[in-house]
Amino acid sequence: MCATCGCGGEDGAVITIPHDHEHPHEHPHDHSHPHDHEHPHDHEHVPATETITLEQKVLAKNDQLAQRNRGWLEGRNIMALNLMSSPGAGKTTLLERTIREMSGQRSIAVIEGDQETLLDAERIKATGCSVVQVNTGTGCHLDAEMTHRALVTLDPPTDSLLFIENVGNLVCPALFDLGERAKVVIISVTEGTDKPLKYPHMFAGADLAIINKIDLMRYVDFDLDMCKTYARSVNPQLELLTISATTGDGLPAWYEWISQR
Ligand code: MG
Repeated sequence: MCATCGCGGEDGAVITIPHDHEHPHEHPHDHSHPHDHEHPHDHEHVPATETITLEQKVLAKNDQLAQRNRGWLEGRNIMALNLMSSPGAGKTTLLERTIREMSGQRSIAVIEGDQETLLDAERIKATGCSVVQVNTGTGCHLDAEMTHRALVTLDPPTDSLLFIENVGNLVCPALFDLGERAKVVIISVTEGTDKPLKYPHMFAGADLAIINKIDLMRYVDFDLDMCKTYARSVNPQLELLTISATTGDGLPAWYEWISQR
């Protein structure tokens, strides 16, 4: 996790509501990368037992804050889904389409997590959905504290559906509870059949795995049945859906899964 990999971002996350402007890339970052290059990599010499203690403290504090978020969300009857994947699996594309096709039924809000830029928040904003962007700087995941700050800023309406698009990474986001109702992991057929075995913590903790870009199957060497078998081997309760966010294939089952939560 991050205490050992050395990335930061817990206190340095920048939360921004995107607004209409003509030059999206010129202004966003008034922060000056507060702490990214200041802590040298002396962690290489931290004894293993000390590292484990630090990890436990970080995660215990996060779990407490996540419970606070969970209460905050339940009090408003907001259903939050934590979407996680490696970069490029199609989280934002899936969200854009989901918002367009579901917003007639329920109001939807989005928290976007990326290390830098407002690019994804701007894509979501173009759908007409309210959104805040969390930029984690050097951090490789969202945590419960960032989520709390984003919730206060976003202030999603009662009874709404909240999507949290985590930073693209199959490792650290698996460890950090945000207070969500359910965790959704997305992989795409371009990534390789063995992802569930290589990143078992992510799949073990997920409620649903979505296999995306099924329209590209004919171009890639991806064994769909084997991937499902691997995923269920690390999490027998895992639900699985096969979709294409581009063509819309399989999306009714995704909307049905959301509705049943
Ligand atoms: Mg994205």
